[in-house]
Amino acid sequence: GCVYLSWLIVPAVIISWLTRGAISYDSSDQTALYIRMLGDVRVRSQVGFEPERRSSHPYLCIDFRTLHSNSEPERRIQRLLSFQRYLHSSRLLRGIPQQIPLHILDEDYTGQARCMLEKVGHWNFDIFLFDKFTNGNSLINLTFHLLNQYGMVELFQLDMVKLWRFLVMVQEDYHSDNPYHNAVHAADVTQAMYCYMQEPMLAKSLTSFDILLGLLAAATHDLDHPGVNQPFLIKTDHYLATLYRNTSVLENHHWKSAVGLLRETGLFSHWPAEDSLNMERELGSLILATDISRQNDYLSRFRQHLDQESLCLSNGSHRHFILQMALKCADICNPCRPWELSKQWSEKVTEEFFQQGDVEKKHKLEVSPLCDREINSVGNIQIGFMTYVAEPLFAEWARFSDTRLSQTMLGHMRLNKASWGSLQQEQTLTSEEAETSNASTSREGAAAAPRGTSSKEIPQGSRES
Ligand SMILES: [Zn+2]
Repeated sequence: GCVYLSWLIVPAVIISWLTRGAISYDSSDQTALYIRMLGDVRVRSQVGFEPERRSSHPYLCIDFRTLHSNSEPERRIQRLLSFQRYLHSSRLLRGIPQQIPLHILDEDYTGQARCMLEKVGHWNFDIFLFDKFTNGNSLINLTFHLLNQYGMVELFQLDMVKLWRFLVMVQEDYHSDNPYHNAVHAADVTQAMYCYMQEPMLAKSLTSFDILLGLLAAATHDLDHPGVNQPFLIKTDHYLATLYRNTSVLENHHWKSAVGLLRETGLFSHWPAEDSLNMERELGSLILATDISRQNDYLSRFRQHLDQESLCLSNGSHRHFILQMALKCADICNPCRPWELSKQWSEKVTEEFFQQGDVEKKHKLEVSPLCDREINSVGNIQIGFMTYVAEPLFAEWARFSDTRLSQTMLGHMRLNKASWGSLQQEQTLTSEEAETSNASTSREGAAAAPRGTSSKEIPQGSRES
């Protein structure tokens, strides 16, 4: 979900309609699915959305997402109206498997990508580098590798061609022009999820189904993310907000998008209907758990279990809860990565916020919290996020799974927070100095010499995990 923003904007009413086992495929679910699968305006008119509504509303033609790209205006509009996938369908050889993978790359890069996968379970795995070595196909290659490593293809009798096609479509549905919510983030979350599922507490209790579910949920958890948050969709009267009644709008859409791809590729079509419906349902409950506005519910349930030592991982619903917590941790683990990786993620997510803020300003909408580049900085956003969101979650996770990895993550977070703190301080000092120096030299008419800005790296990224 859009994890970073809504922690400041906890909705007044959070309808927790999703209790496990209570999800049904009612008519609105089907509507969502059809819209997702057919994905354009014509369909919307059939299911009760008037197509002209979109163009008559002053904000609906804002292409908030493709502001990130330089494509020409007509194409931008088209990309908003249809879904990401339909734009790429001609380009990306869908349905013709085994065309994109590593063999079209430079041999050397292929080798290096393969080499990196040997360390896929290490916490300092550099997903940005892996994405380069795979020519931008990190999500496909990482997920395919992990599923094979676990022997999922044999265990669940998966059709390799369908599986590959599914993964290609998943990767395509992420918007590569989002600075943050793109396929590399999904690959990063999938890698983190794998690390957590390798932890002793989980490794000894998870079933093969749990593992398949966990990896698929991680890979699809932000599918077709528009690069703006839920409040933006609500205030611009986006049809997705209407469709999901302003509740977990993005997460519902990610889930339905994933279900659409599962059905379209028939990945589980050889399973009994009950089993594949169960997979879809559990995928939903994992993805919906990433809605950060529900963080406190999950955290207090987690705390309660830990206080009462009541978790019993032979119990399926308890394992499911732990998978939800693991996915939540994986989704917001950026502050727990080594500085060099963590810093890049911080800059990317901030840029996505600021781009939303720019659009809001341009269209005279109220600028969302954290989205105004004039009054926020990467550092202050990160420090707030760590303090109020990440630290409380990872503290409980470390109680649940008291391992070297958990301590490493908490250690990185502490250091990263200190680094942002000193960068902030340095920046403040620099601007104060500049002012003083400006004032003293202004009489001679000389401008203050530009000071070294705070781009200084704080070396702490090389620690072993
Ligand atoms: Zn995410």
